[in-house]
Amino acid sequence: LFITFEGPEGSGKSTVMQAVAERLTVPLIRTREPGGIRISEAIRELLLADDSDMDPRTEALLFAASRRQHLVEKVLPALAAGKLVLCDRFIDSSLAYQGYARGIGTEEILAINQFAVETHMPDLTLYLKVAPEVGLSRISQNDRTTNRLDKESLAFHQRVCEGYDLLAAQYDRIVTLDASQPIEQVIESAYQVILNRLS
Ligand code: C5P
Repeated sequence: LFITFEGPEGSGKSTVMQAVAERLTVPLIRTREPGGIRISEAIRELLLADDSDMDPRTEALLFAASRRQHLVEKVLPALAAGKLVLCDRFIDSSLAYQGYARGIGTEEILAINQFAVETHMPDLTLYLKVAPEVGLSRISQNDRTTNRLDKESLAFHQRVCEGYDLLAAQYDRIVTLDASQPIEQVIESAYQVILNRLS
């Protein structure tokens, strides 16, 4: 089973994914793109480089390329070994960030990502929904890294959230969780959704 965690910055998805992974007793791996994959790490450096004026379509293609390599080298072998795969961000991040917020269009981002992932879509996606003001306020300015992608405006993050909402309405595999709740409750809800799917 391939499960992805999605949401805007400060939604708590990384924390929730880690806590859920610790409670589950089935064999699993926990990963995130670029996931220690050499080629994907090199692509990430290009994506985050502060001084670059990267074209939005170049950005989208690089995310898709990085995703492809991480999928082939890490996700698919784990699934083939019968493991549960928990992945922090996947195709929906590109649809929400590059497709919707950046304005390229979700259809076009879907097309290049379908080329990248072929049939390997997540079985289940947990969308941790939180208002951008709340999410951003959870990340203190000190903790925010200074890479290019972290410098977007509140309006950009609002569009990211709208994008996720549209995806959640469109795809049955996406389950929306209220991530404005205390983190322990979000963890419990995420855990229950996954247990349900496993049984
Ligand atoms: O939240 P996380 O640490 O996973 O994201 C890293 C950075 O990459 C964030 O600034 C996020 O907004 C950005 N990102 C993006 N497009 C994606 C995935 C992540 O702009 N497809």
